[in-house]
Amino acid sequence: MTPPPDEMAPASRLDTVTATGSMPAKTVHVRSWGCQMNVYDSQRMVDLLAPLGYRPVDEAEGADIVILNTCHIREKATEKLFSELGRLKTTKQEKAESGGNMILAVAGCVAQAEGPVITARAKHVDIVVGPQSYHSLPELVARASRAKGEPILMTDFPVESKFDHLPEESVPRGVAAFLTIQEGCDKFCSFCVVPYTRGAEYSRPPEDILVEAKRLAQSGVRELTLLGQNVNAYHGEAAGGAVWSLGRLIGAVGDITGIERIRYMTSHPNDMDDELIAAHAQVPELMPFLHLPVQSGSDRILARMNRKHTAAEYLSAIARVRAARPDIALSSDFIVGFPGETEADFQATLDLVNAVGFAQAYSFKYSPRPGTPASSAADAVPEAVKSERLARLQDAILDGQTKFNQACVGQVMPILLDRAGSRPGQLHGRSPYMQSVHVAAPTHLLGAIVPVRIEDARALSLQGSLAAEPCGMVA
Ligand code: SF4
Repeated sequence: MTPPPDEMAPASRLDTVTATGSMPAKTVHVRSWGCQMNVYDSQRMVDLLAPLGYRPVDEAEGADIVILNTCHIREKATEKLFSELGRLKTTKQEKAESGGNMILAVAGCVAQAEGPVITARAKHVDIVVGPQSYHSLPELVARASRAKGEPILMTDFPVESKFDHLPEESVPRGVAAFLTIQEGCDKFCSFCVVPYTRGAEYSRPPEDILVEAKRLAQSGVRELTLLGQNVNAYHGEAAGGAVWSLGRLIGAVGDITGIERIRYMTSHPNDMDDELIAAHAQVPELMPFLHLPVQSGSDRILARMNRKHTAAEYLSAIARVRAARPDIALSSDFIVGFPGETEADFQATLDLVNAVGFAQAYSFKYSPRPGTPASSAADAVPEAVKSERLARLQDAILDGQTKFNQACVGQVMPILLDRAGSRPGQLHGRSPYMQSVHVAAPTHLLGAIVPVRIEDARALSLQGSLAAEPCGMVA
């Protein structure tokens, strides 16, 4: 689950854990593809190696450890990995010629799914480690240092939770951070690799999550995004045996001093329970934004996707959330050209998009993932048809997004200024509705939540200026 196969983060991203902190002798470079959960995992890998004296660096060249944290959601993920590994072969040789040793590790979902292929095809890879085993990195690095060319493969689903072995954060996360609370998925949508690469659903105990959230708040985090492949299926067991829902957890996170904004991602329509919907009405820290993937508007295609809900049930979930929080901004994922999709099926998707009016959405052409049930379907949709439908869908999504953004012009909104803007004198921020906002503001306001009058709106961002008056909405 994730962008295309919903549940996660939307966008093909290649994030790099950046360098901060003191200057020990050894360095690690982590490259992260895919969803926010991979970004979180990459940060935790850096945390795991920090006690061994490794500091994060922005470049692979010269690094003592290079970790590629891969994502299997995107098309051609394996080919892209091998292309990157080819480039790093030279980097590793250069390090050896200068008398050093670079340990090369492949982590994430491609490692989980293709481990033996990776070690067979790329002999210069030292470690292949799956997403449930990366807490063993310190031990794997020690073994790789001694192994002299023998690759180490660790792609089991260990009995113990990796979360029990993760150390405290070694580098500050900034003002907005991710916190993984749930992993794996039991839904088995027919197009998705997640149940095979991340395993069965697992929810962290609420106490552990609250301890981590408090630490993050104390380090300056003001906005926390709770992550899970199927985050609203969260059912963490507390020490006394009580099982907490996501709604209850959100309430407790909202009580933490310093946490002013909460988001969660990614959800399944069938898991929008009453406690979670009530949280949208009752927890002021919970932002009015919901990413709720639907994938298709056709019941016939939803059944073939094994989504276990209909379009009407999806719309009903949306209506319940809107009743609790009328101004909520909605986001979704769509797969276009799933096997057997007819023009009528596709029209049902367009109808759903127009009926909901999404504030944003992510859409992708279907492409088969090896090992998934849908990958053997005989009635594939021709590429040209997929492309043409995708263009029409994206026009409809962009239209809704533009309308949503334009409706914000004239409002004064609380904006969390999270980084420098692209132009001098400008800062970038996030609205409660997850919009990107560009604001003319001095740098000392970085990290603050300030009232901003929205003056202009494009399809992808808003423009505004600092306002003297208070916000016209909930922060
Ligand atoms: S199988 Fe799970 S993770 Fe994958 S798309 Fe379905 S609900 Fe999301």
